[in-house]
Amino acid sequence: MSKVLIIEDEQSIAELEKDYLELNRYDVTIETDGEKGLERAKAEHYDIVIIDLMLPNVDGYEVCRQIREVKDIPIVVVSAKKEDIDKIRGLEMGADDYITKPFSPSELVARVKAHLARYERLVGSGERRSNDYIEIRGIKIDKTARRVFVNGEEKILTTKEFDLLTFLASNPNRVFTKEELFHEIWNMESVGDIATVTVHIKKIREKIEMNTSKPQYIETIWGVGYRFKV
Ligand code: CA
Repeated sequence: MSKVLIIEDEQSIAELEKDYLELNRYDVTIETDGEKGLERAKAEHYDIVIIDLMLPNVDGYEVCRQIREVKDIPIVVVSAKKEDIDKIRGLEMGADDYITKPFSPSELVARVKAHLARYERLVGSGERRSNDYIEIRGIKIDKTARRVFVNGEEKILTTKEFDLLTFLASNPNRVFTKEELFHEIWNMESVGDIATVTVHIKKIREKIEMNTSKPQYIETIWGVGYRFKV
C-alpha cells in the first residue's frame, strides 16, 4: 500500500483528501504544520507528499524545497491562490505538480495515481535521481549507500549497527524494547541474547554521539528500551 503524507493546515480539506485517498487504498498521514510536516517527510518513508502552500511555521515553498534536497519522491503542491501558481513556476522548488483550490478530490486521486505510476517506472528503470536519506538534527543516514554522516563527517558502522540505527531512526519517537529490536534486526525469536542489543547501542553511541552519557539521538527509556529522539 502506497504511503501518502498530506501537509495541510485546513483540517476539513486534509480530511477530505484523506478520505478519498483511503477509499483508493492509500495509507494516509496528515500533518497540519509546515515544520512538523517537513520533519516527518524527512524522517519517514512516504511514496508521495501533498503540500499546501500557506502553512504555519514553515511555508509550503520551503517544505517542498527541503524535502527535494533529500528525497526524490513525487511532490504535489496545492494552493488556494491563483497567483501562487506563477510563484511555483518561478521558484522551481522541485514540485512535480500543482493543483489550485478548490479542486475535486477525484482529480487529486487521479494525479496521485499518475505520479506514483511514473515514479515507480523511474525507480524500476534505475533512473532514480538520488539516494534515500534519513536526516535528523545533524545525522544523515544514506539508506541506499548504507553510509552514516554526523555533521558532515562519515562514521563507519558495522552492518548490524547500521541496521539498528536505521530502524530506530526510521521510526522516530517510538520506544522499542530490547526484545523487539533483537527480533527486528537479528531476525530471530527473542530467546537469544538480548544483551547483544545493549552492546550494539553502546557502540553506535560511541560513534555518533558527542557525549555518550547524554545521548542526543538514541535515548534510553529506563525499564522499557530505546527510542530515536526527533
Ligand atoms: Ca493553508
